[in-house]
Amino acid sequence: MQVIRLASETDFAGWRAAARRLRRAGTPPEAVVWMVTPDEVLMDDGPLPAVPTSTGGHFAVPRDFLELAETVVCHRSPERFARLYRLLWRMASEPNLMKIVTDPEVAGLTDMAKAVSRASHKMKAFVRFRKLEGETPETYAAWFEPPHRVLERTAPFFIERFANMRFSILTPDATLLWDTRAARFGPGARASDAPADDVLEDFWRTYYASTFNPARLKVAAMTREMPRAYWRNLPEASLIPDLIASASARTAQMVEQAATQPSARARKAAAKLSRDGSFDDVPRDLEEVVAGVQICRRCDLWRDATQGVPGEGAVRAALMFVGEQPGDQEDLAGKPFVGPAGVLFNQALEKAGVPRERTYVTNAVKHFKHEPRGKRRIHQTPTAGEVRACRWWLDAERRLVRPRVIVALGATAALAVFGKPMPVAASRGQALPLPDQVQGMVTYHPSYLLRVPDEATKAQAWKAFVADLGMAWKLAG
Ligand code: SF4
Repeated sequence: MQVIRLASETDFAGWRAAARRLRRAGTPPEAVVWMVTPDEVLMDDGPLPAVPTSTGGHFAVPRDFLELAETVVCHRSPERFARLYRLLWRMASEPNLMKIVTDPEVAGLTDMAKAVSRASHKMKAFVRFRKLEGETPETYAAWFEPPHRVLERTAPFFIERFANMRFSILTPDATLLWDTRAARFGPGARASDAPADDVLEDFWRTYYASTFNPARLKVAAMTREMPRAYWRNLPEASLIPDLIASASARTAQMVEQAATQPSARARKAAAKLSRDGSFDDVPRDLEEVVAGVQICRRCDLWRDATQGVPGEGAVRAALMFVGEQPGDQEDLAGKPFVGPAGVLFNQALEKAGVPRERTYVTNAVKHFKHEPRGKRRIHQTPTAGEVRACRWWLDAERRLVRPRVIVALGATAALAVFGKPMPVAASRGQALPLPDQVQGMVTYHPSYLLRVPDEATKAQAWKAFVADLGMAWKLAG
């Protein structure tokens, strides 16, 4: 019997080297025992068998087998090394074995690989960093319990996303430390080694509550995507039972709201302008902008919207924010940034120390562009022509408010503010001169933060977004 001792539970290189030698030597699977022994207690069970010269020592292994093996090694099954070697052994007489997906061994190992990939995906989605108190420079830590040993294979994702952040990820199997230059892996940790709570927790809770749409609630699908096993590490999970319990009442309220008429402000402003004359006259004040937007026909977007949504805020604000267009809730309320993205925007402003009431907030396009889908109205991005048509109103707001700094939130706003397409990721975080000594800036639209598919990217984008708002406020000050 040949005993193979591997250096760690995920020692793919060790398994591969041993498996290659065993197969070249003609050692059958039933004559091999696979064990994991850490380096420090490595015992000598005798050398691996010599490779007989008669075998020629060469055989080809399909790439898809190697990829499968590298993934399966992270599975918690104690049988994984033996099962992989059994498959490798059979390939000598069945060269197309990997293509026979109904073969029980191939199917079983494929299922194991899928389970590992799923665990890695969940790790990307559900790791939550917490700030370590009193650490300089700033350092973050996260505790996570993956169902399989996926820390090492998932580490590049976190390192790439948080390249400039010092962090550690603690799991029961291993620990990853990233100091912004090099990654180190250490032994497993306990949940008590991770920090308990921090200010980011409140962000996740508010964020989750604001994005929770009761009309779209499907409990089975939600728990499939966010399995209960992960809830104990998710700050927002404490809200889920209450949100589910109140979903039907909130849905009824949303349906009722959908029948809302244009706001009293919009009706009054439109009536006043109808009496006073044409909105083609350049607006003399912001009231005329409010009124003009209600009866504007410069493009077709007015047709399906409840009302026009002009900007609002301080009349002489030094800082102006420009979003894309009103969303579903803004269209009903007649006010900009009051829906889920608005909630997040307000929270980011607060975190950045920017008083919203001292800024002016508007959109590139003043009517809600959407398409109906059942009871829902699905947002559609305005075309360049619609942005150009509505720029007449944005220019009027700029002329009347006279801000020192204008921040474009997202690509559509950037097109409206700068008059040309601007890549958001590459342009954000810097002052970009506009005519008349106005400073422009580009940053994410808050709804981007709502849409980012993985939590790690979301946390990074949130940090950048808050930093951009703070920078804009300083520039305007
Ligand atoms: Fe006028 Fe702008 Fe509305 Fe088009 S979107 S109708 S340009 S206010």
